[in-house]
Amino acid sequence: MKEIRMVDLKSQYEHIKEEINNSIFEVIDSTAFINGPAVKKFQKNLEEYLNVKHVITCGNGTDALQVSMMALGLKPGDEVITTTFTFIATAEVIAILGLTPVLVDIDKDTFNIDPKAIEKAITPKTKAIVPVHLFGQCADMEKIQEIARKYNLYVIEDACQAIGADYIFNDGTKKKAGAIGNIGCTSFFPSKNLGAYGDGGAIFTNDDKLAEKLSAFVNHGMTVRYYHDYIGVNSRLDSIQAAILNVKLKHLDYYCAERNRAANYYNNAFANNTKIKTPVKAAFTTHVFHQYTLLLKNVDRKALIQHLNSKGIPAMIYYPVPLHMQKAYIDPRYKNGDFPVAEEICKSVVSLPMHTELDNEQLKYITDSVLEFINK
Ligand SMILES: *Cc1c(COP(=O)(O)O)cnc(C)c1O
Repeated sequence: MKEIRMVDLKSQYEHIKEEINNSIFEVIDSTAFINGPAVKKFQKNLEEYLNVKHVITCGNGTDALQVSMMALGLKPGDEVITTTFTFIATAEVIAILGLTPVLVDIDKDTFNIDPKAIEKAITPKTKAIVPVHLFGQCADMEKIQEIARKYNLYVIEDACQAIGADYIFNDGTKKKAGAIGNIGCTSFFPSKNLGAYGDGGAIFTNDDKLAEKLSAFVNHGMTVRYYHDYIGVNSRLDSIQAAILNVKLKHLDYYCAERNRAANYYNNAFANNTKIKTPVKAAFTTHVFHQYTLLLKNVDRKALIQHLNSKGIPAMIYYPVPLHMQKAYIDPRYKNGDFPVAEEICKSVVSLPMHTELDNEQLKYITDSVLEFINK
C-alpha cells in the first residue's frame, strides 16, 4: 500500500509532472518572474472559473484578507464579526489593523458561522462580516447577505478552504464560494484545494472601483508608477507559482470530485455508527472537502489518534482551541462558556487524511482501523 499522508502532493504531482515542469521552465526562460504573462493569464483564468469580474492576485491568503479590509477603508475601532472556529489568520488580520474582532458561535452541524449569532453581535460600530467557508462548504450566505444589507455592512468571504464550492441560492441559481459578498479571499498554500508550490493568494470582487483599489493596495498603494495614493503593502503572486496554478486550475473540478469520492467512501463506512457523526452538508452548498472532519461521541480522541498513528495513519485536530480561548486573543469580553457549540466541537473533532490521491485500498485500511478502535 502507498504511504498514507494527510495530503499527498507528491502523487498528485506525478500525474501532471510534464505539464507543470514545462510551465515552470517557460517562466524561467522568459525571466518574467514578477507580474509576468503567467500571472495575467492566471488572473483571467480564475475570473472565468469563478465567474467574477476581477481577480487580484497577492502573496498569500492572510494578505488577501488584510488588503481587503484596508481597501474597504476600515478604521481602528471598527468592529468586524467573524467565527470563533477558524484558522487564526481570519481574526489575526482584523487585530493587526487595529480593528476589533467580534467573535460568534457556529452551527452545530456544518461548523460554519451562525447567522443568528451574527445579528445578535451587531453594534453601531460594526462595519463588516467575515464568514469562513470552513472545511470546504459555504456558510449560509443568503442569510448573511440579508443581514449585511439590513445593517449596511461589508461582507468579506474567507474562501481559503472552499475554492470551487458552489453556493446554491433559494431560486436555484449558483455562485462560486468567494463570488457572493463584496470581496472574496483565497489561499494557494500548497495543501489548499488549489495549491501552489509555495505561497500565493487571491482576492475577488465584482466591484470595479474596489478592484482598482485592491490592485493598488497590494502594490504599495501605487496608482500610477511611483505615485502612491494609499499606504499599501507589497504582496505578490510570483510568476512561477502562477504558472503552476494555471496548470492545476484546469484540474480543480476533477480534484473536487476526487475529494468527494474519498468523502463518500468514509461516509458509507461510518454510516449509522452511534459514536461517529460524519460531516453534515447544508442544502445550499456543494462540498469540496478541504478537510474530512468527524465529530466523535464518547470516544477517547487522543487514544484514537494514537491508535491510527501506530498503524501509519495520520489524523489531525482542526482546530483544538476556539479563537476566543487563544492566548493572544484572550479578551475580557470573552470567557470559557461563551460559545458552547464551538467549544464542544473543538473537544470532539478529528480530521482524517483527505486529498485527491486516496485509493480504495488506503480508504479501506483507514476506515477499518478507525472502526477497529471505535467498536472495540
Ligand atoms: C489557509 C487559511 C488562511 C490563510 O492563508 P495563507 O495563504 O496561509 O496565508 C486564512 N483563512 C483560512 C480559513 C485558511 O484556511
